[in-house]
Amino acid sequence: MERTLSIIKPDGVARGIIGEVIKRLEINHLKIVAMKMMKMDTAQAQGFYSVHKERPFFDSLTHFMTSGPVVVMVLEGENAITKYREIMGATDYREAAEGTIRKDFATDIEKNVVHGSDSPETAAFEIGYFFNRFELIV
Ligand code: ADP
Ligand code: MG
Repeated sequence: MERTLSIIKPDGVARGIIGEVIKRLEINHLKIVAMKMMKMDTAQAQGFYSVHKERPFFDSLTHFMTSGPVVVMVLEGENAITKYREIMGATDYREAAEGTIRKDFATDIEKNVVHGSDSPETAAFEIGYFFNRFELIV
């Protein structure tokens, strides 16, 4: 069993597709073991995306991520990290596979509806960034 961090980004929440995203998680047997809604402040978003701090899109990305509420979840399942990345689709929705969340709902390379951890190391960092051990269902 593996765990991964999922975020429904501000565009997804604002457009009313929280339910659509969660339905796809449930259909694919990714079990939600923690979930909260929050509005990140700038420092929180910058810390979360610190791996991208040298990228040209960093300021725009952190601004976007603080522009409205997000839904942060921990998902559990077999190969959860890779499986969820497959359900999400490629970063650029124009390159995302048919039937993926980003292909179906993203409007922009930045406003791409969802975040998912990309490795076991990032998953551990990202889960710990938002949740303490008492908030995770065992
Ligand atoms: P992913 O979310 O698929 O793991 P990255 O980790 O590379 O993608 O990038 C983090 C987020 O930064 C992306 O989901 C997207 O919102 C934004 N982003 C990535 N590349 C670009 C880009 N070239 N221009 C604008 N925003 C970008
Ligand atoms: Mg990433």
